[in-house]
Amino acid sequence: MELETLSCVVQGKKEVNVVSQKIQFIDDSDTTLVQITRGSICGSDLHYYQHGKVGNFEIKHPMILGHEVIGKIIKSNSPVLQPGQKVAINPSKPCLICKYCLNGDTNQCEQMRFFGSAMYHPHVDGAFTQFKVVDTNQCIPYSESLDDDVMVFAEPLAVAIHAGKQGGDLFGKRVFISGVGPIGCLIIAAVKALGAKEIICTDISRRCLDLAQQMGATKTLLAHDNFSDYLVHKGEFDVSFEVSGHPSSIERCLEVTKARGRIVQVGMGGNVPNFPIMTLIAKEINLVGSFRFVEEFNTAVEWLSKKIVDPRPLLSAKFRFQELKPALETAGNKHEISKVQLVFE
Ligand SMILES: [Zn+2]
Ligand SMILES: [Zn+2]
Repeated sequence: MELETLSCVVQGKKEVNVVSQKIQFIDDSDTTLVQITRGSICGSDLHYYQHGKVGNFEIKHPMILGHEVIGKIIKSNSPVLQPGQKVAINPSKPCLICKYCLNGDTNQCEQMRFFGSAMYHPHVDGAFTQFKVVDTNQCIPYSESLDDDVMVFAEPLAVAIHAGKQGGDLFGKRVFISGVGPIGCLIIAAVKALGAKEIICTDISRRCLDLAQQMGATKTLLAHDNFSDYLVHKGEFDVSFEVSGHPSSIERCLEVTKARGRIVQVGMGGNVPNFPIMTLIAKEINLVGSFRFVEEFNTAVEWLSKKIVDPRPLLSAKFRFQELKPALETAGNKHEISKVQLVFE
């Protein structure tokens, strides 16, 4: 069957449009037709809009934005996905046959097709569109009674839970988080749920620190505050999460993390020109990266369903999807805005 769908498309730097497209749905066992109800704008969407590229991946032809979406089933052959069923949509499409996939590390897939990415040619379209054909296994059902404002946080929460797990066993641990934008704030909630005893956060923004407090931080400090309390004994924290990507923040994590402690690098910055490698060596710090998520997407849906995490303080504004450009401009105002959602229904 053929359908018409209005899609939020990026064509290049500062060039976005809502355009009508035709899509084909072949009713087979592996694919499901979903009506998108809500989307949330993420840093990568914003980057494609502001710069026409993310890293080296440049927009070469129009691409649908968006990977943080939820929707309702229109048609599926899966017995658990009846028409009208609400679903969170996992934006990862790993190949399932490469050596990483076979080992269960699907976030490291060699042929990952992640929604809304210009990494490949043609680009992989995102899901800021009224109707989308997805793989049936990308659909995670959730309860009718749960607020859409909440469930559209499943994808960034999955990123946060994966980061938390990269920190090892957090039960009873003292945790430091540097950079508390939306992902940093969700990491607070995730490490709290994973048993962290104390969560100290820092940022350059007072507004972000206030949100961090609402999301469960034990204590917050501005980046220029006095950190001397945390520098004793070669550092006081068992695990640090670096979520800003800024060189001075990476340096601070190395200072405040105790010897033989762990640092999880989440923030995607550029290169760090004078990385304090001697501190890393002498304190025998475990520095580990964190990228996207694996089964944590299901955990995120579960935690949001059970209200273990309430992400609503992070929602700053909602726009109709037809107002894509003002929505992206608003999302770009980092001084005042956290998450911006697009309403498709
Ligand atoms: Zn995202
Ligand atoms: Zn793979």
